[in-house]
Amino acid sequence: MKPLSKNVIVAILAILVISIIFSNYTFKNDKPEDVNLAKVVEEIQNGKIKSIDIEGADIKIVLNDGTKQTTRKEAIVSLPEALINYGVTAEQLRNANITVKDRSARSYFVGVILPSLLPLLLLIIVFWFMLRQMQGANSKAMQFGNSNAKEFNKDQKQKVTFADVAGAKESKEELREVVDFLKSPKKFSDLGAKIPKGVLLMGRPGTGKTLLARAVAGEAGVPFFHMSGSEFVEMFVGVGASRVRDLFARAKKAAPCIIFIDEIDAVGRQRGSGLGGSHDEREQTLNQILVEMDGFDPNLGVIVIAATNRPDVLDPALLRPGRFDRRVILDLPDINEREAILQIYAKNKPLVAEINLRRVAERTAGFAGADLMNLLNEAAIRAARRNDTKVTQEDVLDSIEKVMLGPERKSYVMTKEEKKVTAYHEAGHAIIAHLLPNSDPVHKVSIIPRGSAGGYTMKVPGEDKRLHKRAEFLADLAVMLGGFVAEKETFGDVTTGASDDLRRSTRLARELVTRYGMSETLGPRVFGETQEMIFLGKEIHEQRNYSEKTAELIDLEVEKLVNSALDTARGIIRKEKLHLDKIAKTLLEKEVLEKEEFESLFSDHVPTTTSVVA
Ligand code: ADP
Ligand code: MG
Ligand code: ZN
Repeated sequence: MKPLSKNVIVAILAILVISIIFSNYTFKNDKPEDVNLAKVVEEIQNGKIKSIDIEGADIKIVLNDGTKQTTRKEAIVSLPEALINYGVTAEQLRNANITVKDRSARSYFVGVILPSLLPLLLLIIVFWFMLRQMQGANSKAMQFGNSNAKEFNKDQKQKVTFADVAGAKESKEELREVVDFLKSPKKFSDLGAKIPKGVLLMGRPGTGKTLLARAVAGEAGVPFFHMSGSEFVEMFVGVGASRVRDLFARAKKAAPCIIFIDEIDAVGRQRGSGLGGSHDEREQTLNQILVEMDGFDPNLGVIVIAATNRPDVLDPALLRPGRFDRRVILDLPDINEREAILQIYAKNKPLVAEINLRRVAERTAGFAGADLMNLLNEAAIRAARRNDTKVTQEDVLDSIEKVMLGPERKSYVMTKEEKKVTAYHEAGHAIIAHLLPNSDPVHKVSIIPRGSAGGYTMKVPGEDKRLHKRAEFLADLAVMLGGFVAEKETFGDVTTGASDDLRRSTRLARELVTRYGMSETLGPRVFGETQEMIFLGKEIHEQRNYSEKTAELIDLEVEKLVNSALDTARGIIRKEKLHLDKIAKTLLEKEVLEKEEFESLFSDHVPTTTSVVA
């Protein structure tokens, strides 16, 4: 706020100067002496008077020697009259040089108008400064309604093409059509085909929506107007709508071109469900978008691409044919796509030759493209901090855990006892994960504290799964409880270290019963309606739509699931006590066991036929 403080100083200075001038004016003249009328008469008779000024009832006298005096008289009598009454002769009176003045204009101004005008003057000055400052901030105050869309041109240096987007094969296929429309609209219009007006990209954050939209523009070689949904909405009502108008007007002039509205859910939420004050403005903006999209000729060659990660909250009017009728879904990348994305970002980083990006891709299920980019960046930072010139496999693998669990807490020193408990706890998870056929294989076991975890067992699905079987969930439950059971079986006591496992296993068991219909007693029903609160974008509210009796049954079923998982875990740990000890001892020694080392501990193992029972 530099300009403000500067202006304030100027204003204060102005006030000071004015008040100094004003005060000088009133206090400058050396005070005249107050005398009575008799004294004046005496002075007149002695011929001492140079001049007498009469202003109303005030009389100002200047003597021959320059002394000033004042006196007053009754208002009704004139001064000469009064003086004559006092015995002054007409001759003497003539010599006294009397002038009658009206209240002088100047003294009237200083005495009456200025004091009442001064505050007004100050106010005007202050307002003037404020106004100037406001204009400084938005010197484009009158262009408020213009869209400030950023325009990327075909001759942009960092042109993005489809080659920069790894994976997302189907999405690219869809969009390649759009590129064709933009390149040769005539081909389509000659056949009477209507070019789509809007394409909606949907997908989780970081899956490459923005990137893909830019790639379309890059491929087609047309101008690209980029604007984010939130940029439409300002403090003032009506601005959003006017920005939409301006944006479309600009685009129509530049056709063929692409308008990209990122995060459209900021303005495109279902109308009428508005919570919070600004929804009127949002609705107007949305209406304007709808109107504009209906308004232009489809063969003009303007295509609106919008992106959102909340397609569920969009207003249905946006999705109807003729508007965003093409929908492109960007999924989280699968293992092959993850490898491809990693390869793109590995290109500009010096990696050691033997780095296995497949391994990295395996361990990063659930990572979006942006996460993978971030991961390699973390790895490069780690390498730089080691003062290495190349990024190693270890840098990358360590960064995965850092991204997922938080940084290693090297300074945290565990007591011998704690270390031993942690080793058995993790060995418990690992051994059950390894021996249950429906569980994912173990990739790493560690007892180095990381984030809030004392140790961790990483198990990774062999392939990306969309569907999960009940048997897998039951195995998961047993694995989660494995740490707890191992502690109990080994030391006869349990620690707080298992609390997070218990929380997660209880929640999973409950979900099996209430959401997936995987309990035999209660059957394929969903219990409880989870309501979405739009303004938080999260499920925060569960409405109970079942009876007290059912609630009891649910609790019973959850208990049954947890108990049976506990039995499974206990069975394995008792039976495989030797292996448990072996894993825990090796862990205490090495702190970290990678997949191969861990599996070699079971080389003497005869596969058991343990399977999960409900
Ligand atoms: P979104 O808009 O979906 O939230 P972005 O398009 O902004 O995600 O993606 C974020 C960053 O992640 C991109 O700048 C890009 O570097 C990277 N990224 C995401 N998906 C991919 C992908 N499929 N191929 C290459 N890079 C990707
Ligand atoms: Mg984006
Ligand atoms: Zn645990």
